[in-house]
Amino acid sequence: MLGSNSNQQVTCIACGEKVAREDAREYDKHGDRWSREDKTFEYLCKPCHRDCCHQNRDGLEETLVAADAGRTDHKTFLRQYCELTADNTGLN
Ligand SMILES: [Zn+2]
Repeated sequence: MLGSNSNQQVTCIACGEKVAREDAREYDKHGDRWSREDKTFEYLCKPCHRDCCHQNRDGLEETLVAADAGRTDHKTFLRQYCELTADNTGLN
């Protein structure tokens, strides 16, 4: 017990991977971390964070909200998120 929480793990909201909190990027889908009441932060692992930065951020925020991030169970959210992002990016 040296006052370190470095072993704490968080789950990436985009891919579901568990990563060390210190390696994750805090992500607040509402973009306002100071009025969060009792909501918790979401986290992105580095690869997903990088992907997000390469994507259109506007679309990402809408997609996360549309996919019910934080308001639905994880599996449902991930499925919705994947469907929504697949629609948006139209990768080919
Ligand atoms: Zn991830």
